[in-house]
Amino acid sequence: MSSHSLQSVERMQLPLRAKRQSQSKSFWRRLLAIATPAQHSWHGGLKLRGYKQLSNSKPIAPVAIGQIQMAIPLERGRRCAQPCVQPGQYVRKGEVIGIGDGNTPWVHASTSGIVEQIGLAFAADSPEPVMAVILHADGLDEWGARPVLAPPKTPEALVERALQMGIVGLGGAGFPTGLKLAGAQQPDLLLINGAECEPFLTCDDRLMRERAEALIETADYLATLLGITQTRFGIETNKPEAIAAMRDASRQARTQVEICPLPARYPAGGQPLLIKGLSGRNLAPGSLPAEIGVLALNVATLYALGRAIFHAEPLISRVLTLTGACERPGNVEVPIGYPVSALRALAGADPEGQLTQVGGPMMGHSLPAPTAVISKTSSCLIFGAERYLPATEPEGSCIRCTRCIDVCPMELRPLDLYAAAERNDHATLQTLRLDACIECGSCSSTCPSHLPLRERFRQSKAELRR
Ligand code: SF4
Ligand code: SF4
Repeated sequence: MSSHSLQSVERMQLPLRAKRQSQSKSFWRRLLAIATPAQHSWHGGLKLRGYKQLSNSKPIAPVAIGQIQMAIPLERGRRCAQPCVQPGQYVRKGEVIGIGDGNTPWVHASTSGIVEQIGLAFAADSPEPVMAVILHADGLDEWGARPVLAPPKTPEALVERALQMGIVGLGGAGFPTGLKLAGAQQPDLLLINGAECEPFLTCDDRLMRERAEALIETADYLATLLGITQTRFGIETNKPEAIAAMRDASRQARTQVEICPLPARYPAGGQPLLIKGLSGRNLAPGSLPAEIGVLALNVATLYALGRAIFHAEPLISRVLTLTGACERPGNVEVPIGYPVSALRALAGADPEGQLTQVGGPMMGHSLPAPTAVISKTSSCLIFGAERYLPATEPEGSCIRCTRCIDVCPMELRPLDLYAAAERNDHATLQTLRLDACIECGSCSSTCPSHLPLRERFRQSKAELRR
């Protein structure tokens, strides 16, 4: 080989070597990012007793649907789908029973049966009755014709798919996912909330352990379709099996999805704190994650969205934790509209237990009526909750111990907010940034004088909105 040709080969090899070196560097960078994901701290928070062991070893089990009466809510907050079925009509699982108006998610039959009436019913998460399709299930659980639909190819088609498949935020807010995607404004960061920081809840933990591949596939699809450059799952360190399962799934799918352990500290899953913890970005009070380039979804919402994208399956069931004072705690996949009373029997709840808590002990509330049914945002039922929740104590006066300031994750001054709220001093409430309060209840649960701080703040926020 001539010296000329040797030089040519050398010239050809140099860029190749440089490319290999840069590939190798990026490989190590990626590996390091997975091993030591970015962590940004936030103030305060609480280390709570988790009670997760009551149900976290129980795999997700289906619920058998017999010939029972169900009530599938059409209404959530100010949004109500228009019923498109009549009393006496037979419907099959997955059929549309309520049509949205472009801002309202559609509603589907969660099993087969005969429509008895369109009327009011109690849903587990609403203090007031909501409009619902009352259905007498026939026990056959027969699917209707399922359309064969390819995954959406554009963001607009994805928004439409999410609305028509009835997808809403399953982490508690119930906001229509289609609207969230529509307002996403070209995000560069996708954050998936798998923190599940409330005590007792284990449904997201089980979802991540058992359906990790589907979650990674959906996150990867969203990132590609929306041009997102970074995807991170935030999971509290008290779920090591979920972290391992998600890491395995991400590795096997050869994605760049990062699985980031978060300190087990309540309320790590609160939206501003999750964003801060995983990215260092600050979500200003009253602003949306989209304004800082973030698309944030709960892990159960991501799963439901994946079923809609890849299987054209509407949101007709959800995973729910049954726990507390019961013989058979666990995690079950429940059709929407299923009666809580039937779940109570399934779990073998203590008949003496008076109080059923919906959601966790910090952000949840008591079941509004014994006849209530499961809605899309019901994540947990704690039976005999009076055994676990602190007894109501008489209110004292503020002793200015400042414990509430120490624990407030939003760095507010709850004692001063409370004093201003008691005076109905709206100007001071605004100056003290009441709008930044995420209603986590850390202050109330710490206050030695048992002041109902969070409840007062909720009330004042509603007054300010009015
Ligand atoms: S924790 Fe309660 S008593 Fe202590 S400063 Fe705050 S409001 Fe006052
Ligand atoms: S309820 Fe509001 S004021 Fe109280 S700790 Fe949480 S964020 Fe702070």
